Amino acid sequence: MIKPGYYGQWGGAFIPEILYETFRELNATFARCQADKTFWQEYVELMSTYSCRPTPLTYAENLSRHFGGAQIFIKREDLNHTGAHKANNVMGQGLLVKRMGKKRVIAETGAGQHGVATATMAAKFGFACTIYMGEEDVQRQRPNVFWMEKLGATVVPVTSGSRTLKDAINEAFRDWVANMDTTHYVMGTVCGPHPFPAMVAWFQSIIGIEARKQIMQHFGKLPARVYACVGGGSNAMGIFQGFLDDREVELIGVEAGGKGIATKQHAARLASPDASPGVAQGYKTMFLQDSDGQMCDTHSVAAGLDYIGVSPILTDLWEKGRVRFAAATDAEVMAALDLTIKQEGIIPALESAHAFVHAFKEAGSLSKDEAIIINQSGRGDKDIFTIAHAFDDPSWKAFIREKGKQYAAD
Ligand SMILES: *Cc1c(COP(=O)(O)O)cnc(C)c1O
Repeated sequence: MIKPGYYGQWGGAFIPEILYETFRELNATFARCQADKTFWQEYVELMSTYSCRPTPLTYAENLSRHFGGAQIFIKREDLNHTGAHKANNVMGQGLLVKRMGKKRVIAETGAGQHGVATATMAAKFGFACTIYMGEEDVQRQRPNVFWMEKLGATVVPVTSGSRTLKDAINEAFRDWVANMDTTHYVMGTVCGPHPFPAMVAWFQSIIGIEARKQIMQHFGKLPARVYACVGGGSNAMGIFQGFLDDREVELIGVEAGGKGIATKQHAARLASPDASPGVAQGYKTMFLQDSDGQMCDTHSVAAGLDYIGVSPILTDLWEKGRVRFAAATDAEVMAALDLTIKQEGIIPALESAHAFVHAFKEAGSLSKDEAIIINQSGRGDKDIFTIAHAFDDPSWKAFIREKGKQYAAD
């Protein structure tokens, strides 16, 4: 028997009883929207006028020549409104909220990217919006907090626990339980209790639908491999869905190797031996946790990949051998970023650069009549502080120092 919301042994909906009715309504609305062709049309129309869909598939001619093997194509999710694939998910959920007749959305955010995307959607649809964020993250991610507030959202700094993402998740759930009649919780990735993994994967499938059509147009046949970075797993699920049934297309998910798998300072759930099965945050997957089930501290140079869990859908595909997992270290990521910027004039987000690392490692071993696709989940502009710091750029440091002095004098 197949249990709804399960992917093999993974997934489920571990929710407090008080939310059952809210989830029943959410499941019913989601099922209605999936069955209604006009809903998907409305979604595609919205994304083609408010975001940049269909996003292009760019032939990376210089990189292909550089590695001398497979023809490298880049799916340009960085060209979405707000700079990443996150727009697909939040705008889709926004349409769903409209159908449910709710007027308020909440979300939790770590690095702030999902918070900005949600606040953007709320501004567009005229919803009230509250974003929960660990106090520590509020301090580290001021530019994103600035934009969320400018977009009209209330940002609530969470002061409990470690004052980071997992505490923000708890706080957001508390809000939802108190306000479920009026409020929708906008999950940011293909994780959490059912139906969120299925729902987010559905909205993100637009990436894979486009990419499959585009590679057939540009290259005349399917790619040998498709690479995507994996935080929660939404951009990866998005593009992989276009090729899941094409068994000859190998799918590779790249996780954050941080300072190296051996150092334990990473966020590799499926590409390291360090994760184990567990139930947390409403669903069952492989978590980076200690033997008491306490969640570990993870590390990545890319904030969007720095997460203890991973999509139950991907865990199932990994267990079945359909998706191969690898990890890229912070140092490898900086090198791949540098090369991509110089060769193609494209600045990938630090998250996306993880996928580039493994594509680059393997491109040379494939033949010139094969293609690979890298999903560029987002653009790197947001990472200027981290990238300039990592490259130890002296004039950037002087610029920041000068700005600091100006503000100190105010
Ligand atoms: C948030 C984010 C990710 C990680 O999220 P997934 O759900 O794994 O896709 C990856 N890339 C970018 C640019 C992001 O902003």
